[in-house]
Amino acid sequence: MTKTQMTEVKRLPDQRKFRLTWEDGFSSEIDYDKVRGFCPCAGCQGHGTGEVEFRPPVSPVEPLSIRPVGNYAISIQWTDGHDTGIYRFDFLRQLVIDHQDSN
Ligand SMILES: [Zn+2]
Repeated sequence: MTKTQMTEVKRLPDQRKFRLTWEDGFSSEIDYDKVRGFCPCAGCQGHGTGEVEFRPPVSPVEPLSIRPVGNYAISIQWTDGHDTGIYRFDFLRQLVIDHQDSN
């Protein structure tokens, strides 16, 4: 899996999406609700197979703030009060690739 750095997380409030850009120039958009639903934290995922599953938010969410975690991930504080998910750059890249054609 790629270790490429993510260089930009841009919010597109009108479309309720993020635009994510990596240092190799790869860029893609993904819905807020999709990113929230794929929150990889144990609180959202429980102790399952290790495969992160989609758990749709009860109601639509928006990101309140986005913080870097080390040089490998970001954490997002959501309007539903959740903020413990750590989204690794390689995880987000796989997520957008998996969902690029499903919008
Ligand atoms: Zn979570």
